[in-house]
Amino acid sequence: MLNIILFGPPGSGKGTQASNLVDHYDLLHISTGDLFRYEMGNNTPLGLEAKSYIAKGDLVPDEVTIGMLKNKVNTNPDVNGYIFDGFPRTLAQAESLDAFLAEKESEITVLTALEVDDNEIVKRILNRGLTSGRTDDNDESIIRKRIGNYNNETAQVFDYYAKSNKSIKVSGIGSIEEIFDRLTYAIDKDK
Ligand code: AMP
Repeated sequence: MLNIILFGPPGSGKGTQASNLVDHYDLLHISTGDLFRYEMGNNTPLGLEAKSYIAKGDLVPDEVTIGMLKNKVNTNPDVNGYIFDGFPRTLAQAESLDAFLAEKESEITVLTALEVDDNEIVKRILNRGLTSGRTDDNDESIIRKRIGNYNNETAQVFDYYAKSNKSIKVSGIGSIEEIFDRLTYAIDKDK
């Protein structure tokens, strides 16, 4: 199995690259942000719980997020592997994911982290907010909070996978094709 964590701050181009990587490697794309938005759109209990955190730019509690992720993997077992996008975002999520994959005699192959500086990210997300319909994309203070979360909490996940030499930094500046080539180079080296 090829299991990729596509890592990087919000607005670093993870969604775009994930869909290209899915086509290239024939993987299932799992974005916890997309799963939450789907649940919120359907006003499910999970969606309603997540909404209060997401609207403020806070992380949804680990227990809720991990349960939702496991459910998605368990209902899609027959795949070549997964691209995890926006997950894991905390150390607890990373440890749970590793234990969960180990039960399936699988593991994370590689974590690729897209690097884009903060001001460029704010610019990109505000621009995305013009068309995305996402309220968390329209307010600069919420965007900065999401970047703060990434820097404070989520970046620990990079260091966690670096211990087993699985973390690779990839510049997120350039054309979609250039960034895609950097990602596939990094993934092919490690698989
Ligand atoms: P994203 O689309 O990945 O930027 O996620 C949008 C929002 O969903 C985030 O700002 C968080 O509030 C929430 N979220 C998505 N993934 C996670 C996660 N792995 N852990 C906690 N909260 C998450």
